[in-house]
Amino acid sequence: MSTDREETPASVKIGPISYRARCTEAGCKNLGRLQMIYADAGGRPIAHPAVCLEHARGRLAHDRTAGLKIYDDS
Ligand SMILES: [Zn+2]
Repeated sequence: MSTDREETPASVKIGPISYRARCTEAGCKNLGRLQMIYADAGGRPIAHPAVCLEHARGRLAHDRTAGLKIYDDS
């Protein structure tokens, strides 16, 4: 799943996943553990990848550096 589309995410909310899914990162075979909901500046959801804990950590580090507002509900 890519987030480099027209809309630029302004925030991301992290919460426990409510369904069974595989991590959406390419090539990852782990089970998705966290749902990350990316929203634009107006609060409209842009993307909502389900990721494993490892990829959630990597994405968060990247998103924090990118200046996104992070809401952690996990
Ligand atoms: Zn993963």
